[in-house]
Amino acid sequence: MDDVILVLNSGSSSIKFSVFVERADQVELKFRGQVEGLYSWPRFIAKDSAGTEIGAHKWADGERLGHEGAVAYLTEFLRDQREHNRLIAVGHRVVHGGRDFSSPTLVSPQVLSTLERYIPLAPLHQPHNLVPIRLLNQRRPELPQVACFDTAFHCSQEEVAQAFALPASITDHGVRRYGFHGLSYEYIASVLPDCDPKAASGRVVIAHLGNGASMCGLRACKSVATTMGFTAADGLPMGTRCGSIDPGVILYLLNELKFDSGAIEKLIYQQSGLLGVSGISSDMRTLLESPQPRAQFAVDLFVYRIGREIGSLAAATGGLDALVFTGGIGENSAVIRERVCRGARWLGVELDVAANNSRDARISSKSSAVSVWTIPTNEELMIARHTRRVLGSAVAAA
Ligand code: ADP
Repeated sequence: MDDVILVLNSGSSSIKFSVFVERADQVELKFRGQVEGLYSWPRFIAKDSAGTEIGAHKWADGERLGHEGAVAYLTEFLRDQREHNRLIAVGHRVVHGGRDFSSPTLVSPQVLSTLERYIPLAPLHQPHNLVPIRLLNQRRPELPQVACFDTAFHCSQEEVAQAFALPASITDHGVRRYGFHGLSYEYIASVLPDCDPKAASGRVVIAHLGNGASMCGLRACKSVATTMGFTAADGLPMGTRCGSIDPGVILYLLNELKFDSGAIEKLIYQQSGLLGVSGISSDMRTLLESPQPRAQFAVDLFVYRIGREIGSLAAATGGLDALVFTGGIGENSAVIRERVCRGARWLGVELDVAANNSRDARISSKSSAVSVWTIPTNEELMIARHTRRVLGSAVAAA
């Protein structure tokens, strides 16, 4: 019988889960899976750490299982395995910890209601992140739950890096740059010393390029600056989010084009980025395969913005010793990595094209002044580690 930690990453239409077991003072993946199509065609799949299917279920097309149904199914699936696994805690990915949470936190009803206040700051993620916490609180109030925040890693930034040039009457409300993808950056920072100890103690830029995309500048593995700000809509263009735009554009939309706030929210979160520019898809693979000029322009804009942000982050870190690619695009697209590295030659980046194409971890040439890496991220493992630590501290305190 293993004591296991369940890690949940709950989005708008799917809940991804991973189950970790404690072995030799480490947490190790036991199995993982997801319930997807929560409001269209729900499907459940679970695979062990070797990739062998250990559970699958499909609901009728059009059935609305919803988050509640998915959490109920998942807890039932785990209960069926109670001879082998004893659930001791649940760790959750929570996108926004705001001003109140600078580290992973044991969830109480007060914590939950504070986190609900951040829903307007992350409307695409926060409400969905919180649903399973609330449901599990009702179903299993004795089960410890730990919220792990995408914002927490960036709390090490200096005040000047977090500030907007706005009056105090506004910034006093917590209007400042928070940054996101912190669990991903923290994981990379935890493995970078094994890849390149010298760079890890120096100046690093990590590009987390997925559907959501951001970059982070680090000194000695601590966040110094990042491209995302108050919300996860800032910085790079993403799958469907616009990234940085002149705030005057929002005023123009409101005053001249008569958009209301709902239409603006939809535009900047769901209709922009790669999808909006290409008019074809938010999926990088589709765009790279498309002969359409608009698809190519969307990719050009993505690469161009990454290049600009590398320069900006290298200014914040005071130079560059290593560049790391991660996220679905960063891990899988040799073409995007090559184009980004070509644009960063002025910083001393020299790509080893063969290594880049053969998915090696180190993809820079021996003579490159900056080492370049492709490192798969592992936010779930980070959450499991945090959950175990918070649980340990709670037990020690009790
Ligand atoms: P999320 O932010 O939702 O976790 P992912 O990190 O899974 O997203 O990244 C999804 C993105 O990765 C999509 O744009 C997808 O097209 C892209 N991607 C995955 N594999 C490849 C590939 N081989 N080449 C280019 N892009 C890829």
